[in-house]
Amino acid sequence: MDPFADTLQRLREAFVSGRTRPAKFRAAQLKGLSLFLQENKQLLQEALAQDLYKTAFHSEVSELILCQNQVDFALRNLHTWMKDEPGAKNLMTQLDSVFIRKEPFGLVLILSPWNYPLNLSLGPLVGALSAGNCVVLKPSEISKSTMKVLAKVLPRYLDQSCFAVVLGGPEETGRLLEHKFDYIFFTGSPRVGKIVMAAAAKHLTPVTLELGGKNPCYVDDNCDPQTVANRVAFFRCFNAGQTCVAPDYVLCSPEMQAQLVPALQSAITRFYGNDPQRSPDLGRIISQKHFQRLRGLLSCGRVVIGGQSDESDLYIAPTVLVDVKETEPVMQEEIFGPILPIVNVRSLDQAIDFINRREKPLALYAFSNSSQAVKQMLDRTSSGSFAGNQGFTFLTLTSLPFGGVGQSGMGRYHGKFSFDTFSHHRACLLSHPGLEMLNNIRYPPYSDFEQKL
Ligand code: NAD
Repeated sequence: MDPFADTLQRLREAFVSGRTRPAKFRAAQLKGLSLFLQENKQLLQEALAQDLYKTAFHSEVSELILCQNQVDFALRNLHTWMKDEPGAKNLMTQLDSVFIRKEPFGLVLILSPWNYPLNLSLGPLVGALSAGNCVVLKPSEISKSTMKVLAKVLPRYLDQSCFAVVLGGPEETGRLLEHKFDYIFFTGSPRVGKIVMAAAAKHLTPVTLELGGKNPCYVDDNCDPQTVANRVAFFRCFNAGQTCVAPDYVLCSPEMQAQLVPALQSAITRFYGNDPQRSPDLGRIISQKHFQRLRGLLSCGRVVIGGQSDESDLYIAPTVLVDVKETEPVMQEEIFGPILPIVNVRSLDQAIDFINRREKPLALYAFSNSSQAVKQMLDRTSSGSFAGNQGFTFLTLTSLPFGGVGQSGMGRYHGKFSFDTFSHHRACLLSHPGLEMLNNIRYPPYSDFEQKL
């Protein structure tokens, strides 16, 4: 018995009926999303607190507001985005109408992770609905409370003949992926990204893969250590380090490290107090499995800040590691927790070389008082996103695409990029039914070509 067949059949029929195509229908879905966010704010905040120990404020800034902004931006721009885009013509097509039509793909699957379980479900959903698709959303089974709200409450705000939430872990998702979708949007780990892409390949289904990896953070000798420490500690520990774009490790000289370590200690104490476990502003690790993995990483290098953990509370202290070897697990896998290793390099060139020897990261950070050094880092490396002297504030902007490159993913979304991702850009040329004399020139035989001219 296939648990998904009926739902998928229903959504396919709805798509074929054409009801998702009109702007009015799409806008109604977006307004439904907006209402869902407004009317269930407290419920969502409670769910996020249960899943990830997020405070109401944290949920607001890292999930709810970001979703609302994406919805509002799509509602404001939907009509413009949907318009056919005129194409430039050549001599032979002067009398034709030439344009790009943005048409929905059809039935879209969105697979989301647990770390920002609302934002990373609704963000892609905004794009898929704006573009006029029918959507199956499969939220992460690990962020259970948010998953329940998405499954039980969200569908009430959307047209249920065109939208469904399905539930399941790896096994169920594997079965779901056996079905043919017209587009798959996946956010998660590179490991599962490969599984999703292999399943999609069987049907030649296009994919967006929003993956993770290790995001380098270069700190130049000329920086003010406290300013850098504040920014790096804040963005590393946000959501207890469980952020795909978090700075994963620092690259700096031993001299800068000597100044940075006390500055990081001071920033951590300022943000979370002398006992960070008692701070309401530091999140918890999502599960026992991830807790055990992170606790294992604490034995890499030498702990100079933090290092404490409490299994009963899924708590890992904000931790800084030094003397870390490139071959140790903490420098091999994405950390995804509040642990920051520092690796020493002697120069900007050496840092660039270190970064370029590894997979292309999702985000890259460079801190320097020299705009030339920041520019060098930008010009000579590649990453999904780049920030100079800042953390991951770029992802709050609807004007910038968000996505990875190489091992950190493929495709992009946010703002208009979301609409474009979920739309097929159809090349259209409409010619005149008459005016045959203009066409005669292209027909054979070509022996009398000059006469035709
Ligand atoms: P994950 O890859 O384990 O899971 C993501 C989704 O895939 C979930 O819905 C899950 O149910 C499903 N899944 C898990 N195993 C599967 C399998 N074997 N077959 C089919 N489906 C399966 O990722 P996660 O642990 O939920 O999230 C953490 C990872 O996601 C990190 O690597 C992080 O960097 C990445 N991430 C990336 C972004 C981004 O925007 N690029 C955002 C958040 C998280």
